[in-house]
Amino acid sequence: MASVELRNVTKVFDKKVTAVSAANISIKDTEFVVLVGPSGCGKSTLLRMIAGLEDISSGEIAIDGKVVNQVPPKDRDIAMVFQNYALYPHMTVYENMAFGLKLRKFSKDEITQRVNEAAEILDITHLLDRKPKALSGGQRQRVAVGRAIVRKPKVFLFDEPLSNLDAKLRVQMRTEISKLHTRLSSTMIYVTHDQVEAMTMGERIVVLKDGRIQQMDTPLNLYHYPANKFVAGFIGSPAMNFLDGELVRDDGLWFICQDLKIKMPDSRRQELESLAGTRVVMGIRPEHLSVKNTAPQTDGLHNITARLEVVEPMGNEMFLYLKAAGQILVARLNLTEKPQVNSDIAIGLDLQKAHFFNPQTEEALQVYTKQN
Ligand code: ADP
Ligand code: MG
Repeated sequence: MASVELRNVTKVFDKKVTAVSAANISIKDTEFVVLVGPSGCGKSTLLRMIAGLEDISSGEIAIDGKVVNQVPPKDRDIAMVFQNYALYPHMTVYENMAFGLKLRKFSKDEITQRVNEAAEILDITHLLDRKPKALSGGQRQRVAVGRAIVRKPKVFLFDEPLSNLDAKLRVQMRTEISKLHTRLSSTMIYVTHDQVEAMTMGERIVVLKDGRIQQMDTPLNLYHYPANKFVAGFIGSPAMNFLDGELVRDDGLWFICQDLKIKMPDSRRQELESLAGTRVVMGIRPEHLSVKNTAPQTDGLHNITARLEVVEPMGNEMFLYLKAAGQILVARLNLTEKPQVNSDIAIGLDLQKAHFFNPQTEEALQVYTKQN
């Protein structure tokens, strides 16, 4: 068990590709932190630097308060689980799990005990004599995790460990890794490009883009208070809708976007007043759009007319793709009947929940009023 501290950690490959830029992350002992971002944003590089598999160009990494920049991977007391499992094909499951302990000269009894214990936790005791090729993808994944557990490391690192599994198994393994974290109460750093995995597993999430940390917070704070347009669009599915427009003062405060004239509720005037006369991007989540019988009881509701172009029924809810002000808006609704496509319908926007961003810097313009 240990804390992990990154101070201004930068990684430049071949003197030209900056994969990670001045990352500052402070991970507490026993915390489960997820690093999330699109492909190529530097997640693996960051994790590999913590593991010691990649040199740090500048900055400092400390584990348990001790700077480890010069400490080789084998002495960092860290175990890493990779996307491709990296099992030895000629060894049995038992031998795969025991291998790292043998190298470290553990006694035979200790090895047997640790492997059996890990196998039991992961429910793979009946597979110990098999070779990897006789295992399913999910079972191989468990063995890879088992190989990390037997080491009883201070810190676990996971690099997209579920990417090769089918959707159903991924959901199942997600909860198992969360349970494992509770059971072992160890520090875990988990990398994924999947925002749903990040939201469901992380105690805290670090959102990365182009090697830079965009925001670091709890899942719900990222959802409710995104620091910029990128985080707002990345967290949540379907993604937040964005409308480019202008805030105008005229008997109240209005958001104007092409032919849409939307009056902002009085409750938000004070907060938005200083933005009057400027161009802004309004962001509104699909779940904050409504039709008549799904409308919330709020004074922040504003109706617009939109053309319904496509309906995707998901069973428990429907995604409506609408056209208004020349843009596509997505609504996520709880409807029992499929509405008529190619018709004009009234859509309510819950403006209490609208976000505003600077169109140039994309920074959030206001901390939208906390509900609690
Ligand atoms: P992610 O894991 O988020 O997909 P990576 O950390 O693998 O991203 O890569 C981040 C950036 O660094 C990418 O632009 C990638 O091409 C580059 N990169 C990664 N490894 C190397 C390397 N060994 N040499 C040069 N560039 C690299
Ligand atoms: Mg990667």
